[in-house]
Amino acid sequence: MTGIPVACNGLVHIYRLEGNDVVALSGVDLDVSGGEVVGLLGPSGSGKSTLLNLFAGLLRPSAGRLTVGRYEIARMDEKELAAMRARDVGVVLQGAMRNLLPYASPLDNVRFAQRGARRLARGSADKVAIRALPEPHEVLGLVGLAEHATTPLTGLTPGQCQRLAVGVGLAGRPGLLLLDEPTSQLDHEGRDEVLQAVLDINRDLGTTVVAVTHDPDVAAMLPRTVTIRDGRVGAEGRRGEEFAVVSRDGSLTLPPDVLERVPPGSLLKVTIIEDDAVRLDRTGNDGSAA
Ligand code: ADP
Ligand code: MG
Repeated sequence: MTGIPVACNGLVHIYRLEGNDVVALSGVDLDVSGGEVVGLLGPSGSGKSTLLNLFAGLLRPSAGRLTVGRYEIARMDEKELAAMRARDVGVVLQGAMRNLLPYASPLDNVRFAQRGARRLARGSADKVAIRALPEPHEVLGLVGLAEHATTPLTGLTPGQCQRLAVGVGLAGRPGLLLLDEPTSQLDHEGRDEVLQAVLDINRDLGTTVVAVTHDPDVAAMLPRTVTIRDGRVGAEGRRGEEFAVVSRDGSLTLPPDVLERVPPGSLLKVTIIEDDAVRLDRTGNDGSAA
């Protein structure tokens, strides 16, 4: 199984509540290649979990285009989405225990997830062959818990519980692994072992990984980060360095510190200096130099 790519084009998501709508995503343009590891950053409420849930097929786009591998999410019915989740996408929700059966052993947690994946795949309408699933012991080995197959969950460290949650997400050997805040609530040691397990899985299996995080240390260890601001891609990072991104509609989101000095409504003169250099000069409202 190779990594599954994800592509968003003008992706919009609106939560429809009685009386008022909440625009969670207002036009996300983002491509994730198969086999990539991408961290999603951004302030609380910026739309990270919404984006992850759309990738997982747990929500449907209100507008725009979203493809996950060969699936066009907006065109799929509930049954097809469930089959996609079972076969191709591993989702690890925020908070390790939300993904685990507290009274079952690590081994049984993986077995249970595999049973669910098989049942859903069998019920799928397009009858794609059900893949042979990996041995549960092998899955535990991937997250470094081979020695703890039958250790009660109460005997595991928080980092080990989180790694088990990742293992449960991998039980169906998905091509896309989605992690919501996988290292929050962990100490540095736990955080590093979870992150290392995820990076090893990506390297060894080629699984595409999208992980929400607000930990700058985690972000610095990821090859690529995407910062969501106000429901759009606000910036991209490469190995810790931040860049502004030009959207498909030609718009540019300025970094917050620049925006403080150049408030909305400011006029900027855009000059191309060289092939790889563009200048923005602030001018007064009448077009004179500011
Ligand atoms: P993040 O994960 O970046 O904190 P979310 O995707 O959870 O952001 O939320 C984005 C916006 O959508 C927020 O304004 C939030 O209040 C709103 N939101 C999230 N989930 C729901 C929901 N189930 N119903 C209504 N509004 C929601
Ligand atoms: Mg969230």
